[in-house]
Amino acid sequence: LQAKMSRLVQARRLEGVDQNIWVEFVKLAATHATVNLGQGFPDFPPPDFLREALVRAVGGGNHLLHQYTRAFGHPPLVKILAEFFGKLLGRELDPLNNVMVTVGAYQALFCCFQAFVDEGDEVIIIEPFFDCYEPMVKMAGGTPVFVPLRPKAPGAGKPMSSADWQLDPAELSSKFSKRTKALVLNSPNNPLGKVFDRGELQLIAELCIKHDVLCISDEVYEWLVFDGKEHVRIASLPGMWERTISISSAGKTFSATGWKVGWTLGPWRLLQHLHTVHQNSVYHCATAAQVGSQRGARPGDVPKGAGPHAPPCPQEAVAVGFRRELEHRERADSYFTQLARELQGKRDRLIRSLEAAGMTPIVPEGTFFLVADVSAFASDVPEAPGSDEPFDSRFVKWMVKNKGLAAIPLSAFYSGPHKNDYSRFVRFCFAKEEATLDAANDILQKWKQERAAP
Ligand code: PMP
Repeated sequence: LQAKMSRLVQARRLEGVDQNIWVEFVKLAATHATVNLGQGFPDFPPPDFLREALVRAVGGGNHLLHQYTRAFGHPPLVKILAEFFGKLLGRELDPLNNVMVTVGAYQALFCCFQAFVDEGDEVIIIEPFFDCYEPMVKMAGGTPVFVPLRPKAPGAGKPMSSADWQLDPAELSSKFSKRTKALVLNSPNNPLGKVFDRGELQLIAELCIKHDVLCISDEVYEWLVFDGKEHVRIASLPGMWERTISISSAGKTFSATGWKVGWTLGPWRLLQHLHTVHQNSVYHCATAAQVGSQRGARPGDVPKGAGPHAPPCPQEAVAVGFRRELEHRERADSYFTQLARELQGKRDRLIRSLEAAGMTPIVPEGTFFLVADVSAFASDVPEAPGSDEPFDSRFVKWMVKNKGLAAIPLSAFYSGPHKNDYSRFVRFCFAKEEATLDAANDILQKWKQERAAP
């Protein structure tokens, strides 16, 4: 006989954060969609050099690659990350003190909120936002304070671009208070694809400095930037290194979202507290996917001579990828350059499909997402009198079930009271094989024809 528990089992911190849009929409896509442009992952493989590196690491003679390594990041990986990003940030990074490896950018974010946010602290989040920021702030006891990107009319005859979505400086400034502990920046931004320019970042930086606020800078799409736009790292602006945690991930960098290798960069004064959260929760990330080790090396050893003259050893995966990229940076066969070029083509392809069908896409400057206005198709979706479900959510569910095409409603990226503000938009992911984009185009054009038929 099982004793029935009558007490409330869940901790109070879970109140209001138990619903997760991805669980619902990922399941819906898996059940009904023939073409999935919903969840953000490439349906093409990571580059060969990365896959081969992983195979060498797990299949090679160094069985220690199957064991624990240094908790805060395998030394060869933190070493190359420090070298690579030190150049970009214009400062020397200490691999052991300024870099920490995490289970994807997700865990990096979680560590930040746990490490810095106290009961009663406020955290400024720019809407629309990657949805996990809000529950993570709340679980840490903090209060999210939202400030929207507001769309401006595009120039005459021009399509709307993600650059047309801007912060109102006075509104942003009004969100800072004595309780503000941190601001979360996500550039390039998921879901809009907005790449914040230097002037916009300067404004954010000035306010962070004025109010002595931390900046949690989620830059997972840092290499996916189009049309010659520049990705500016806020930590490189004057006065910002000391108050910024920069976050990125191999998932987007090397088209390997399933690997869940992420990292944080920052000053030791901040990073030491991420270490505390990490060592008391996850403690350690998978070795093989991080390693850049040499045959016979012990986990924890920093290999000598990695680079063009390194012996052909099972250096692996992410560290190998960055080492290769460091050597190919200015060359046409740089993976980061090639990936951005390819994705730009896929972006343009999907824009043409959506426009031909009658939707109105917002041209993204970065990421592998684009947001489109679907108002022209609104009448296809049955009314739902009395329902408080945003229109875009009903639209996507209807589209997945009736057209087999999956996307994500934009309202998923807004806080509760703002979910209806821009609910005529949905987000599509274009990091997909040509065949997938063709299939999406077929669905869209057929749908258009059916609507035109008498
Ligand atoms: N931040 C943003 C803005 C993202 O879009 C994602 C993934 N969709 C993440 C963080 C999480 O990255 P990872 O898969 O490396 O945990």
